[in-house]
Amino acid sequence: MRKPFVAGNWKMNKTVEQARVLVSEMLPGLQAVKAVERVLCPPFTSLMAIAAMLSGTDIGLGAQNMHWETAGAFTGEIAPAMVKEFCQYVILGHSERRTYFGETDETVNRKVRAALAHGLTPIVCIGETLAENEAGRTAEVVSRQIEQGLKDLTPEQASGLVIAYEPVWAIGTGRAASGEDANRVVGDVIRPTLAKMFGNTVAEGVRVLYGGSVTAANAAEFFTQPQIDGALVGGASLKAAEFVKIVEAAA
Ligand code: PGA
Repeated sequence: MRKPFVAGNWKMNKTVEQARVLVSEMLPGLQAVKAVERVLCPPFTSLMAIAAMLSGTDIGLGAQNMHWETAGAFTGEIAPAMVKEFCQYVILGHSERRTYFGETDETVNRKVRAALAHGLTPIVCIGETLAENEAGRTAEVVSRQIEQGLKDLTPEQASGLVIAYEPVWAIGTGRAASGEDANRVVGDVIRPTLAKMFGNTVAEGVRVLYGGSVTAANAAEFFTQPQIDGALVGGASLKAAEFVKIVEAAA
């Protein structure tokens, strides 16, 4: 049995004060839904403040990125141990990082291994672009992202991962994938690729989320799919009542 998982990716939104307001609005609603693993991923600058608000709750905190090196001359970067001071999770390989900041499967792999070495749970994002989708290359792209992004992990390490399948054309566009299509990619491509690399038990145990224009209105369409275990929510995670509704739909 895979426990449902919903994470809010706030992206580059909210000052510390705004973040405190948003969390105080959603906290009571989120705390009521124990059947779902719930995670908030605010910007780095708000992590300390939100960690304090979440302490004593069972709601997790995640960063949206990190560097793979442990320390040193990497201006502007954040090391795994710095994330670990406040967080249990870290989003890695988000398509915006791949598109705007040059992340590759190889750098994603370094980050995944560094996160695991520091006791963080990576939420690894994969997904095809519109052009790749239209060219019928979804399976090829997604399986390559998994094979290269999760290279050299042990089955034990892989079993603790969370994977977010986020078709790039569905992110922030209001044009979500259909539940059936997303379910098919997870069931026919993602889990079989994991099975080939790490064995069936791992492939069946890893939580795989859908991401891309998830709202309170369409969440159930994804959560009723047998292969999909939850969602990585962007825009709708910035609205307290709507995010709580999405979490409730996953229970
Ligand atoms: P969206 O973003 O829900 O705003 O489409 C999802 C994501 O980028 O994780």
